[in-house]
Amino acid sequence: MNSGCLSPEVVIFTDLDGTLLDQRYDYESAAYMLNALRTRGIYSIPATSKTAAELIHWQDSLTFKPPMIIENGAGVVWPEGALSEEDDVDPDFKTGKNYAQLCNILAQLRIEFGFDFRSFDDMTPCEISQATGLDRHAASLAKQRTASVPLSWAGAPAQLNDLRAQLEHRGLTLVRGGRFWHVMEPINKGQTALRVHRRLCRMWGNTPVILACGDSENDLPLLQVARGAVLFPKPDGQFLSITQQSVVYARSAGALAWLEAVNQLLHTLELNPQIAACGAQAVSVEKGV
Ligand SMILES: [Mg+2]
Repeated sequence: MNSGCLSPEVVIFTDLDGTLLDQRYDYESAAYMLNALRTRGIYSIPATSKTAAELIHWQDSLTFKPPMIIENGAGVVWPEGALSEEDDVDPDFKTGKNYAQLCNILAQLRIEFGFDFRSFDDMTPCEISQATGLDRHAASLAKQRTASVPLSWAGAPAQLNDLRAQLEHRGLTLVRGGRFWHVMEPINKGQTALRVHRRLCRMWGNTPVILACGDSENDLPLLQVARGAVLFPKPDGQFLSITQQSVVYARSAGALAWLEAVNQLLHTLELNPQIAACGAQAVSVEKGV
């Protein structure tokens, strides 16, 4: 893996939807920000509910080819050639139920208990497009899941608790994302981020500080393992509540607001003034000034 010209001092695990990306899904600006930060020793790693199929093309536009945490931590896409044979066996990683098995369990629960939901397995790309604002092609990529099932809940709140209980009885979990609930094995972005961080520390021979960015409940485990966090407003304008000492509240989602908030967090934590200077420069370029 190309780790760039400087050994990373800071690793930022960042959510995408509602955080680095706003409703315009401007991947190009997002890549620009991450590439600029990388030249100053900051290594950004996406941690998202998106699929490998949605991100594999974008990974090519990042100069430093980071691993990508997908499907809420259920998987990691490492760039080609990044792993040695030794790395391929990770004792911390437990292989769980795949997408088809999760869909079968949901189908059985719907028949048995009459739960009222529409999962990604039920939805056409057109429906997903309408629900998310993704174009049709992107929506079809979002359906190519391996280990988690997003669903839109249409029943009563009490029944949602019943669904959660039935899933937990089967060793599964129900996680709240920005738009959907996600059914998956009981693993989360935070656990997977720590696993990725450990592996990177071994590869690089140092221990970068962990920062994290997110907006929704599925980001909480990730935010909680970081030394500092940036919170982004949810669609209703509210922020998650976390107890960390170093928290910055971003004004909105999107690459520019993301960089401004990350910059503020770096200042707050006094993490290398050169890094902050890079951020200001990138903001100026983005604004065309
Ligand atoms: Mg989000």
